[in-house]
Amino acid sequence: MKVLITGGAGFLGSHLVDLLLKEGNEVICLDNLITGSMDNLAHLQDNKKFRFIKQDVTEYIKIDGPIDYVLHFASPASPIDYQKYPIQTLKVGALGAHKTLGLAKTKTAKFLLASTSEVYGDPLVNPQRENYWGNVNAIGPRGMYDEAKRFAEAMTMAYHRYHGIDTRIARIFNTFGERMRKKDGRVVPTFITQALANEPLTVFGDGSQTRSFCYVSDMIEGLYKLMLSVIHEPINLGNPQEMTILDFAKKIIELTKSKSKIVYKPLPQDDPKVRRPDISKARKLLKWEPKISLEEGLKKTIAWFKKSKEA
Ligand code: UDP
Repeated sequence: MKVLITGGAGFLGSHLVDLLLKEGNEVICLDNLITGSMDNLAHLQDNKKFRFIKQDVTEYIKIDGPIDYVLHFASPASPIDYQKYPIQTLKVGALGAHKTLGLAKTKTAKFLLASTSEVYGDPLVNPQRENYWGNVNAIGPRGMYDEAKRFAEAMTMAYHRYHGIDTRIARIFNTFGERMRKKDGRVVPTFITQALANEPLTVFGDGSQTRSFCYVSDMIEGLYKLMLSVIHEPINLGNPQEMTILDFAKKIIELTKSKSKIVYKPLPQDDPKVRRPDISKARKLLKWEPKISLEEGLKKTIAWFKKSKEA
């Protein structure tokens, strides 16, 4: 199959590119590299089945020849990144979804949207099921990301219902692993970097807010299964093992054998108090669930951060 992926130079995008190539597909990657990096694709330089095009996907996408799948993964994805690039975030969710769906329509390709647990906002129910409509502050500091992704979901369903495009929507929950940027501001790279430097871990608020972390190889497997499925309604992908951010900080200190202390910083506005995916739908329809424990995933990630620190 020939697959086009936007955001293929990013964290999840590049891991998905690797799996797609491993499975024998041809891959075209589009990325404007504002948060993605060619370092994530450097090992593919001589791969004949891989092509990189530097492009902003909010502009018209012109590709010659057939395409079987269009995967829309481009977007700043960490709170720091999307607050630094608010307009680009809104544009890539909205215009980028429109352009990639238009491409899928022209090529009669199947389509997958990388959506997010952020569509649930600061959720009033826990765990979150796909039928929960969410609690989003459109004009708050996370609004640009949440609303862009909600728009992208609405656009995807409209192309599916109105144009009959064969679409899928993955609601991706917190995922971590190799190739996360040290400074993307998210809790996993931040805590690991702080712990390895024996600097204080910055817990926001009192650390009682919860997250559920999925290791990247599990997420990529789930995304690939969804891509090959015919499920058009949104589906949650993530690890349902929930923990508080304070416990998470302690876990990182333990696993890195760090001398770091914990310091408390103000909780950012609209920071979700709880987050945990209900993955019964993915279990049932995709026969998928995460296999890698938090500890195992963190050990691999810490080893990678140590190595890239030395490099
Ligand atoms: N967080 C923290 N310290 C940091 C970075 C993040 O306590 O240095 C908290 C943040 O307030 C949130 C959680 O960790 O409650 C996860 O944050 P992240 O930015 O990774 O992603 P989010 O799940 O909020 O989109």
